[in-house]
Amino acid sequence: MSKKIAIIGFGAAAIGFIEKIKEHDFDIHVFEKSKDIYSSSISGIRADGKLFVSTEMGGDMYVNPELQKKLVDYYISHTDSNTVEKGHSFTNEKFYRQFYARGFQPITADFYHIGTDQLKDVLYSIFENFKKYKNVHFHFNQEITHVDKSEEQIKLSNGEVFDKVVIAVGRSGHKLVKQIISDYPELVSDNTQVDLGIRYEVPDHVVDELNKEMYEFKIRYKSKTGYMVRTFCNNPSGYVVTENYEDFTTVNGHAKLKDKSKNTNFAILATIKLTEPFNDPIGYGSYIAKMSNLLAGEGKVILQTYSHFKNSKRTKNLYRVLPTLDESKYILGDINLAFPRRIMESIIEFIEVLNEIVPGIADPDNLVYAPEIKFYSNALDNNKYDNLKFIGDCSGATRSIIYATAHGYMMAEEITGKL
Ligand SMILES: Cc1cc2nc3c(=O)[nH]c(=O)nc-3n(C[C@H](O)[C@H](O)[C@H](O)COP(=O)(O)OP(=O)(O)OC[C@H]3O[C@@H](n4cnc5c(N)ncnc54)[C@H](O)[C@@H]3O)c2cc1C
Repeated sequence: MSKKIAIIGFGAAAIGFIEKIKEHDFDIHVFEKSKDIYSSSISGIRADGKLFVSTEMGGDMYVNPELQKKLVDYYISHTDSNTVEKGHSFTNEKFYRQFYARGFQPITADFYHIGTDQLKDVLYSIFENFKKYKNVHFHFNQEITHVDKSEEQIKLSNGEVFDKVVIAVGRSGHKLVKQIISDYPELVSDNTQVDLGIRYEVPDHVVDELNKEMYEFKIRYKSKTGYMVRTFCNNPSGYVVTENYEDFTTVNGHAKLKDKSKNTNFAILATIKLTEPFNDPIGYGSYIAKMSNLLAGEGKVILQTYSHFKNSKRTKNLYRVLPTLDESKYILGDINLAFPRRIMESIIEFIEVLNEIVPGIADPDNLVYAPEIKFYSNALDNNKYDNLKFIGDCSGATRSIIYATAHGYMMAEEITGKL
């Protein structure tokens, strides 16, 4: 009889895993908490869909660039028209040198942007393909809350028993991972950092040259405070959106393939590494987010102009740059009341130095939204147990669609290779 494998969560990592294992002799059951495939809570491939090939970003593991490109092509092959926007971050020597000279560390990568509007169809097309395999079974509306492990088998919270369980719940599944870690603490190998900062919005023309050349410009900068600051998720002609966690709201951004705005938004994040006695970076980030929500009102984020952000004054009016975030989702305020000084200083220094290369970036009426947070999951040890594995963002090893997909793919290779 074929061995039974459960995959918890149907996101990017699960897709890579199923794609590689679907033709092998396993009985595969996918448990997804969203109510169906159309439901928007399938988070990984829900918004933006910027796929990239890089060995310098995307996760804390090595993924062969050839496999990364193969997976990019796989996703593109599931679009209707094979139409994507493309860019190359810092492969142009002129830009590389210009940023390097000012103290930035440019990150090289190739980008392929599918766009929020095409993503649902991509996910649906992949799902339809998997459904054709008789050994692949989907169970929606099934939130798994804990797993019970013995030497031979694993029992899920819904009572079903499997030979092997692959946890692929991404960041939104942190409750399940927390539960598993508290039952099996030996799985945790590292837990130290959180990225905290803002989403910045400027008129397209300010960053036109960079957008055209690279689509996404990725840079890191060591500020005088000692914090490493970085750009993340640049959205030319994009939109700022809010993101709701269970008990707080943060800001994010995305871009569509067709429906364009006149602004570009990107995140500027400071990496905060906590050392003993603190061991709860997620808790630290959540409290700062909650403090921002407390000032803005429930479910809202703070919006401020750059000059007020810099001079710690509450913003009461906007000038030339108008927000792409819906008016009901923000309050004009002062982020200084919620963010620690060291983070503020690091971000301001970053913007001021960037302005020397990209004039207009530090214009007083550019828009600052907060809080933007990127949590790092605990790094989990996949060598501890043979029948309980973690893939994608919940494992702490990945932070992107392609890395998560690759992690799933490589885990399936490992499992099928052991046969
Ligand atoms: C708004 C947004 C935009 C992003 N844009 C990009 C981008 O453009 N490019 C990029 O490379 N990365 C992007 N990312 C990051 C990327 O989505 C993740 O790195 C990637 O999806 C991780 O894949 P995953 O399979 O680990 O998790 P996910 O893709 O998040 O999938 C996890 C799945 O598990 C389900 N789940 C959670 N808990 C349970 C449970 N207890 N029981 C059952 N099911 C559960 C969830 O509903 C979800 O469907 C974005 C993330 C967000 C939030």
